[in-house]
Amino acid sequence: MTLTSKPTEEARPIRIIEVGPRDGLQNEPCSLSLKTRVEFINALSASGVSEIEAGAFVSTNAVPQMSGSDEVFRQLTRMEGVTYSALVPNERGLDRALEAGVQKIAVFTAASNTFNLHNIHATITQSIARLRPVVSRAREAGLQVRGYISTVVFCPYEGPIHPANVMGVMRQLLDIGVEEIALGETLGKASPRDFRPLLDKVCSYLSPQRVALHLHDTYGLAVANALNAWEQYGITAFDGSAGGLGGCPYAPGASGNVATEDLASAFKASGALVSVDERKVVTAAQKIAEELGRTISSKLFQVLALRNDLAPQLTG
Ligand code: MG
Repeated sequence: MTLTSKPTEEARPIRIIEVGPRDGLQNEPCSLSLKTRVEFINALSASGVSEIEAGAFVSTNAVPQMSGSDEVFRQLTRMEGVTYSALVPNERGLDRALEAGVQKIAVFTAASNTFNLHNIHATITQSIARLRPVVSRAREAGLQVRGYISTVVFCPYEGPIHPANVMGVMRQLLDIGVEEIALGETLGKASPRDFRPLLDKVCSYLSPQRVALHLHDTYGLAVANALNAWEQYGITAFDGSAGGLGGCPYAPGASGNVATEDLASAFKASGALVSVDERKVVTAAQKIAEELGRTISSKLFQVLALRNDLAPQLTG
């Protein structure tokens, strides 16, 4: 894509996909009660986010933090205009998602074979073969399907990833029926300059409206990457996690997902159309951070705390 094609894209509102209840909580060391998870999702629904990844239909043994996702979907209050999605690794997970009335599923693979082998014990080819019937059946049932590709710029095992590798995986996901591609910058160390060769290729092949960025903020570059992808490529869908919940398993102590409230406030400051009330996101995150006994890493939280401007019922 050339840089001159951007202005028409800037009028489209930013779509924030809140992944805290899934990707955030899944990477926290302790599990929360179903009630707390449902209340968290309901609070986020009221914040103006477009979509909430509310759970994962994975093995309870493998990911205890996501156990009872079926019940979470049954209990949450669906708000008009918000899509509630779930991570689904296989056909068994899809059966559970269909049973629970999920509107959209997310499937996942990586641009690095080594990462995939460590993460899901399958090569890229094996993972796509496993996902083919999942995506096909989900589409037949009228569900939307997102495909995550992890390690799109750097892999913790293989180092820099060539954009051609990502394109190859993306084409395979599109071929099996995936509609939205979520590009995951798993390490959180890529700069806008590192992203450029990849986004040039991706956005000249696929409409930027079908691309989402899933950014981690380990080195504090996530907001810069999001703004750059919007301004230069017309990408408007971005994943965020309330309060920056979730760690990064490859860099202990480092932050994981970019905080939803930091994304929202940065886009507002840049003149984008954003429906998210970032203060409501912070309030929702505070409750969860208290339950988890952790601090909130977002810049906005720090600003509000310094101003003594946090939700009063939670500051005492
Ligand atoms: Mg993540």
